[in-house]
Amino acid sequence: MTITLLGFPWDASSSYARGPALAPPIIRSLLFSEASSPYSVSGVDFREVITSSDFADLPENADACRAAISARIAEVTQASAKPLSVGGDHSVTYPILRAIKAAHGPVNILHVDAHTDLYDEFGGDKYSHACPFARAIEDGCIDNLVQVGLRSVGPEQRAFGKEHDVVMLGADALDKIPYKKLVGPLYVSIDLDGLDPAFAPGVSHPEPGGLSTRDILSILSKLPASPIGADIVELNPEKDINLATAHVAARLVKELAALMA
Ligand code: MN
Ligand code: MN
Repeated sequence: MTITLLGFPWDASSSYARGPALAPPIIRSLLFSEASSPYSVSGVDFREVITSSDFADLPENADACRAAISARIAEVTQASAKPLSVGGDHSVTYPILRAIKAAHGPVNILHVDAHTDLYDEFGGDKYSHACPFARAIEDGCIDNLVQVGLRSVGPEQRAFGKEHDVVMLGADALDKIPYKKLVGPLYVSIDLDGLDPAFAPGVSHPEPGGLSTRDILSILSKLPASPIGADIVELNPEKDINLATAHVAARLVKELAALMA
């Protein structure tokens, strides 16, 4: 199975700081830098499994942008390839999941994040980066949703999650991840603020007390199915230090590509 790498430079659905729209070309340049190895931890060369890429601009209008994202994911799945997307803020995941549902039906999702992203609306925007998983649940895109790394959950999101059988785990509960729920079709969504800011300072909403890079690689190695798609979102290059977070994103591209191949 081949993989298409997509860049979604969108951050107008962020509630606080712009910046994630700058991330895709930075991640791409690190991936193809002569200073970095192309190999995953398990020894897969990402250049052999990511056979195409699409880093085209998106429309400035939010509705048109989401439609364009869904259309590009649909193109990939119709070509019997798997989409591996880099954001962009987390709002890009809802239009991705709509197209994934059209191709695969409801999917199981591993969602790494400091936040639940289950708000009904945020700042009057139902498509904010605080809302993608609420919209995806309402649309029937998700079978099991397993959230890992949470550490800023309000009572409303807690209640919504409980009502919809979302598994909500803090960064101290990695031994409780129900891998049995993460069988195929499996999708992986990684918000880089799920990591501790010590490992990933380049995010708009840093929350100390998060996962290490090693924690995430360990979780990925235990997944019982090969993901049919994945995204890595919320890199904010304007907050990053010495490209530390961008390097984490590039590492995750290589590891996810190895798992998806
Ligand atoms: Mn987050
Ligand atoms: Mn998020």
